Amino acid sequence: MNTELVKKLQDCFYERYGQKDAKVFFAPGRVNLIGEHTDYNGGHVFPCALSVGTYGMIAPREDDHLRMYSVNLSNAGVTNIPLQKLRPGRTRKWTQYPEGVFWSMMEKGIAFDHGADLMFAGDVPAGSGLSSSASLEVVTGLMIRELYGLSELDGRELALVGQAAENVYCGMQCGIMDQFASAMGKKDHAIYLNTETLDYSLVPLLLGEYELLITNSKVKHSLVSSAYNGRRMECAKALADLQKVQGLQELGSLCELTPEQFEQYQSGITDPVNRRRAKHAVYENARTIRAVDALQKNDIVTFGKLMNDSHDSLRDDYDVSCEEIDLLVNETRRIEGVAGSRITGGGFGGCTVSIVKKNQTPAVIAEVRKKYFDLFGIEAAFYRVMPEEGAHIVVQ
Ligand code: ADP
Ligand code: MG
Repeated sequence: MNTELVKKLQDCFYERYGQKDAKVFFAPGRVNLIGEHTDYNGGHVFPCALSVGTYGMIAPREDDHLRMYSVNLSNAGVTNIPLQKLRPGRTRKWTQYPEGVFWSMMEKGIAFDHGADLMFAGDVPAGSGLSSSASLEVVTGLMIRELYGLSELDGRELALVGQAAENVYCGMQCGIMDQFASAMGKKDHAIYLNTETLDYSLVPLLLGEYELLITNSKVKHSLVSSAYNGRRMECAKALADLQKVQGLQELGSLCELTPEQFEQYQSGITDPVNRRRAKHAVYENARTIRAVDALQKNDIVTFGKLMNDSHDSLRDDYDVSCEEIDLLVNETRRIEGVAGSRITGGGFGGCTVSIVKKNQTPAVIAEVRKKYFDLFGIEAAFYRVMPEEGAHIVVQ
């Protein structure tokens, strides 16, 4: 727990809302180890929750207003809005995420008979692909569950409500992975999740002499959300083409295909760009299945190679890398003791995730930092991370 940040949150909560001794809630950010851009194609993903995330506090109000404040965005001040005024697209400011969670719950038929004062403080670098937005949604859901006594909402429901908030209220077509990992993560485990059925298993992430290293490129090319929606469309078109092929009428998603089947039927996809997008989805899903298998056999070397293949496919077939990220990946891979390195998150910047021998991590950080700075004049940030517990109460 980030005690300094929690203290700041508690002090600020008291100062702004006059409430002492309220509970503190937490939902983590996540990193996806492999299985990128498979989530909206009916495939598998393999994320784990992180120790960084969003903390939140909540108190009931007598009227039906929501007041929201973020310690991270103090300049934005307090937002105050009646519950009945919540509408998708009402705002593009940060409060759209917690507002969206309230709204999505109301859409599910949950009635709130009073409003609430909410406050947040996060330590995920926002906008870098570690899913600060999902952690903000999930912590909001957790607080609502507690305050309004909605014990029927399990972690899976909180994830779905968070996703609905982001999809409908915020207009961002993300899959379920981020919210699911934030709500359902487990310490020392990664989550092998079928995003189509929401079947999942927790796989021990025992890396032995290796560890996870996240590198933040600190760049975010503005393409992200438009390209994300564009990729989804291209995959949908590829699927529609395949469904016209004899024998594939019943195909429900791209990731139902094995690579062998894809090779057999790929000519049915008319547009070569859409074909490459579909190829990535199908092969990435197969890689994810193999990677989990390798991990269960303690074969970190194979796991790392599959991460490398994942990156190459995201760069060449899915076209979601960029020169900054490619440099980070290439320079990291070059160093001895690195099992694998790839882009993680939506793309066009953000972070890479690597599996590195612990005794080599300082060398990786020093060399990659220097090369990156020399070429782009940007100080990359490095985080040595462990898989942590999903959403929970940190101060009772
Ligand atoms: P990512 O989820 O990869 O971090 P997004 O663009 O999806 O990137 O979400 C980042 C946005 O989420 C921020 O711009 C902000 O609006 C909101 N956000 C995340 N954490 C906080 C926080 N602690 N306080 C206020 N807003 C936050
Ligand atoms: Mg996000």
